[in-house]
Amino acid sequence: MTQYETVIGLEVHVQLRTKTKIFCACSTEFGASPNQNTCPVCLGLPGSLPVLNRRALELAIQTGLALNCEISGRIKFDRKNYFYPDLPKAYQISQYDMPVCGKGFLIVEMKKSKDEVVEKRVGITRAHLEEDAGKLLHEGVTGGSWVDYNRAGTPLLEIVSEPDLRTPEEAFAYLTSLKSVLEYLNVSDCNMEEGSLRCDANISIRKFGAAQFGTKVEIKNMNSFRGVQKALEHERHRQEEALESGGKINQETRLWNESRGETVSMRSKEHAHDYRYFPEPDLVPFTVSEQEISTVKQKLPELPQARFERLKTRYALSPYDAQVLVAEKSLGDYFESCVGERISAKLASNWIQSELLGALSERKMNLNDSTVKPKDLAGLIRLIESGTISGKIAKEVLPRMFETGKSAEAIVKDEGLVQVTDTKLLEETTERVVQANPKSVEDFRQGKKQALGFLVGQVMKETKGKANPKLINEILTKKLS
Ligand code: ADP
Ligand code: ZN
Ligand code: MG
Repeated sequence: MTQYETVIGLEVHVQLRTKTKIFCACSTEFGASPNQNTCPVCLGLPGSLPVLNRRALELAIQTGLALNCEISGRIKFDRKNYFYPDLPKAYQISQYDMPVCGKGFLIVEMKKSKDEVVEKRVGITRAHLEEDAGKLLHEGVTGGSWVDYNRAGTPLLEIVSEPDLRTPEEAFAYLTSLKSVLEYLNVSDCNMEEGSLRCDANISIRKFGAAQFGTKVEIKNMNSFRGVQKALEHERHRQEEALESGGKINQETRLWNESRGETVSMRSKEHAHDYRYFPEPDLVPFTVSEQEISTVKQKLPELPQARFERLKTRYALSPYDAQVLVAEKSLGDYFESCVGERISAKLASNWIQSELLGALSERKMNLNDSTVKPKDLAGLIRLIESGTISGKIAKEVLPRMFETGKSAEAIVKDEGLVQVTDTKLLEETTERVVQANPKSVEDFRQGKKQALGFLVGQVMKETKGKANPKLINEILTKKLS
């Protein structure tokens, strides 16, 4: 057992879903040809002036409200000065001492096991608006590097968490919950590969019970949530080993190398004063009224946490099932459409989580373009409920639904899959199975309950899965007692 406690705080940059950039009218569309979406403002040409995109501010306020943050009505921007070729003005317009969103929190649900979901409240320190930088291209280029300013000026919301996370798994769960909230709000694509969601992780360790935090290291360059978790696990070990061997931790920024599975030192940490922050003179501070903020608040959609509670009570789902269904908005929507067809919520939840998701991943389809729609799946489930087919047969029908585009009912009818409920036929088959398996019959009579399951399975096999398992169970139990 380690004697060190890990302390983690995350800084997440979210690209806000606006049509145009934060301070100019250039398009934010991904995938345009290099430098197509630029103008004097986002290229930082002298004499050009920024104008704030109202929509970006509105999305920032929405997100802040969803994260239970205090919203600052007074909006002010600052310049963060540094030089890098992807930053044409040599400063980034950001917010320093008056972020649009102040203190808040996020409730993070963590699945511990099939029957246990624990909740953790993670503090949000702040969230502020800023502009993104351009993109440098080094690979496949000879004689230097190329720069693409299409992304320069894209609106970002930087969401900073308190150092409340204690394990890499908690960091993963926090990111998953945060992404879920952002998706429900529809404020961002949240696509890590396209860079619309980026995460820097801060981590330190200290002896359990210590009053002070240890020196923190910032890790960058992870391109998935699992990557963040792995980088933190690696870094936790590295820090422990350093301290154990009598060394100390340097406050620095390290880069995660995914293929080598390790972090490498990049630079010693810069301090706020290195950036010479000062108020942005080209954007005067202004006030958003209480009323405007409460209008945004009233328009907030139902958020994952509220939906989680609602699904548990309304459909009597276990916390685990409710959590799985809620985490991705499309999954929750699919489930609710399905139960809207008046079928068992428990069956719908099971079928969606195992069979449907399995079938979709085999076909490399995502839920939104599933050709089997909620009402189609509900049709299949209704056949199980009415006893027309067994669950086993239903598992064969689902792939046929994907292949043929036909309804479950049509497939069952066309392919003669209707469940055998002919008692006489089942009696005969059962008798044959009992004769052929004296050992299992004996076991059952000695009290081995599993033996019954085996015998039921044999009857199912004989009838090619078409027997009604409930009926066989009854017949067998009667026969053997
Ligand atoms: P900086 O001034 O270096 O940017 P901040 O205090 O603004 O540092 O914190 C940045 C992030 O680092 C936050 O997410 C915060 O929770 C986290 N953090 C701060 N101190 C620690 C620490 N000792 N260990 C781990 N994370 C920390
Ligand atoms: Zn522009
Ligand atoms: Mg900071």
